Amino acid sequence: MKREVRSLSILSLYRLVRIEFFKCLELYILRRDTRVIQELTGAVYHNEYRTIEPESGDYIMFVKGRSVLVKKSVLAGNGILEYLKLEELVKAKAECVAAANKKTGISENDGNSENIKDNMKFTYLFQIETSKGTMKFFLGENDKLPSSLLNICSYEPQNIFREKKPDYMAFAGVTACQLANWYVSTRYCGACGALLEHDKKERMMRCPKCGAMHYPKISPAVIVAVTDSDKLLMTKYAGRAYTKYALIAGFAEIGETIEETVRREVMEEVGLKVKNIRYYKSQPWSFTDTMLFGFFCELDGDDTIRLDEEELSVGKWLRREEIPTEYDGISLTNEMIMRFKNGEHYGS
Ligand SMILES: [Zn+2]
Repeated sequence: MKREVRSLSILSLYRLVRIEFFKCLELYILRRDTRVIQELTGAVYHNEYRTIEPESGDYIMFVKGRSVLVKKSVLAGNGILEYLKLEELVKAKAECVAAANKKTGISENDGNSENIKDNMKFTYLFQIETSKGTMKFFLGENDKLPSSLLNICSYEPQNIFREKKPDYMAFAGVTACQLANWYVSTRYCGACGALLEHDKKERMMRCPKCGAMHYPKISPAVIVAVTDSDKLLMTKYAGRAYTKYALIAGFAEIGETIEETVRREVMEEVGLKVKNIRYYKSQPWSFTDTMLFGFFCELDGDDTIRLDEEELSVGKWLRREEIPTEYDGISLTNEMIMRFKNGEHYGS
């Protein structure tokens, strides 16, 4: 009897292990397919602030509005993302100075690379560590960019980072873009109007006049997957270039919890009540300066959709098999949609 029980439990254990193994394998495959932009392949993003100057081999990022300077070679087909390095910038600047000196006959600068570097201002951004080493990224000043470099580089809209590879370089591009825009819009103190100074210890702009501290602007927002049994509430934005299916989304307001944002946004956009709100994961979404919080929740009561037509052009329930299969490999929204479609969503 004892032996039977024992052999049974070993068999059950074996079955359990086998089931768990395949579950893990399935999750791994799904996770690989639904990787989002900040989940870097074999690379680690280091956001810790440093007060260091760039050295040879470091990347200098140039950002104009929502466009970033990239090497032109990336624009051809499956070209690999690459940015300007300090030595390329210094060399081009030296040639530029030498040409100017030749023209005027006055030797203002002997083309010494250290002098040239000292005449430019760089802002430290972040580092990305890969198996090949650590890459450091700095922000350069657009008006110091020698025009000759536009033969090998061009300013490209940030949307290229949705597709271009490798993923850690795309992440670097869009993150640099967000930081650069924050620096551009944080030059003067909002309280007293004085010119701000870079803090020495952290990523913060300090007002020398009134002491106000200005930190990077990060706007929290929710992405909400509202489910009703095997149906998912899917939406399309009104009046936007993005025409694919999305989920309910909206910004947190002052004075509410992030769960209250979920309830309010769902009610405002589609007029539905929800329950069993479960946090899924977050995503820094630099394309719109947002920090996204993904939630799954269930319909509570009546399923009649009352669409806010100013925000949405479509709002409807789709069964798992009706949801289009499309992995964008970048957005939290897409990952959540695909997880629901595959019958694998958090907390259920
Ligand atoms: Zn001030």
